[in-house]
Amino acid sequence: MRAVVYRAPFEVAVEEVPDPRIEQPNDVIVRITSTCICAADLYVYEGRTGAEPGTVLGHENLGVVEEVGAGVTALEQGDRVVLPFTVACGFCRNCRAGSTGSCLTVAPAPRAGGQAEYLRVPFADVNCLPLPAGTDRESDYVLLSDVFPTGYHGCRLAGLSPGETVAVYGAGPVGLMAAYCALLCGASGVFVVDSRPERLAMVRDIGAVAVDSSAGDPAQQIADLTGGEGTDTGVDAVGFPAPGTGEGEESAAVLDQLVRTVRPTGGLGLPGPCVRRGPDGAVADAGPGTLPVTIHTLVEKGLRLGTGRTDVRRYDRQLRDLITEGRARPSFVVSHELPLDQAPDAYRRSAQRVDGYTKVLLRPDAA
Ligand SMILES: [Zn+2]
Ligand SMILES: [Zn+2]
Repeated sequence: MRAVVYRAPFEVAVEEVPDPRIEQPNDVIVRITSTCICAADLYVYEGRTGAEPGTVLGHENLGVVEEVGAGVTALEQGDRVVLPFTVACGFCRNCRAGSTGSCLTVAPAPRAGGQAEYLRVPFADVNCLPLPAGTDRESDYVLLSDVFPTGYHGCRLAGLSPGETVAVYGAGPVGLMAAYCALLCGASGVFVVDSRPERLAMVRDIGAVAVDSSAGDPAQQIADLTGGEGTDTGVDAVGFPAPGTGEGEESAAVLDQLVRTVRPTGGLGLPGPCVRRGPDGAVADAGPGTLPVTIHTLVEKGLRLGTGRTDVRRYDRQLRDLITEGRARPSFVVSHELPLDQAPDAYRRSAQRVDGYTKVLLRPDAA
């Protein structure tokens, strides 16, 4: 089959690789019809994750069940499913409590990638979310694999309640999803900080307040917009390190701005991602993965800090049903839909953040 393969830092290729096969009775094989490029894939692309050359990329996957292992009970050939970006076992202590993003059985690393024609899914009864049959709303449903629930997770980590206000730093796909989810959840004010005009335009399009960080201190701008109070909650949707930057200083600056933006006793959500390696692949003791943060202000203000990988399975059914019932259309973040063969160019442009490459959806079945 064809797949998008990591070759070396800043180099991916579409290559022939062996087809995946059923390896365990609870596996299924899914024929992928939609798969997105994520900021986390760009960390791999930039050589920050220590990925081996030959690794198949992609963890935001949707497709049709092609082959079913003998131990699978809830799925049949032909079912359309979306796959959470983390693989969960469903039976460990954390999975039982709903914290599927912290499964103790399955290593936190993503499975073999889905930017390919086929994908093996382990613990398939747990890791396939069934979708309505057909091909409707494919570009909405595929976002259930990561950015839609991760945006929601950011709001949950921050403790956002209806009627409260939230500041979201970063208007990339996760930041836009966090803002969109905050509005779905009944926030009374949603302020989104970024400096790119095309992203700020998307913020306004969904009904949130765009805060241009190039026009002055964003924490001060939000203070002015909230009668000097600041927001009830805040979400860091920039990640660590800030994409496209070498080191952690920008991430630290964002977190410090967030601490200044949120009112005393408010809550902060840090849904990630967070990587510890520099572009040379080395694990750093300082720089990527470590932040010089003004902890004094964080503690003095009594802010709550929520962190962690998204527990996709905790939210995905509800979010799926919002899409199915026409209450949510998260696909507004998808900027490009391209055949799989155009992945190398799409990675290059996404990593350079040019030409409005916000969120790329690849279609392995398109010519
Ligand atoms: Zn992702
Ligand atoms: Zn588990």
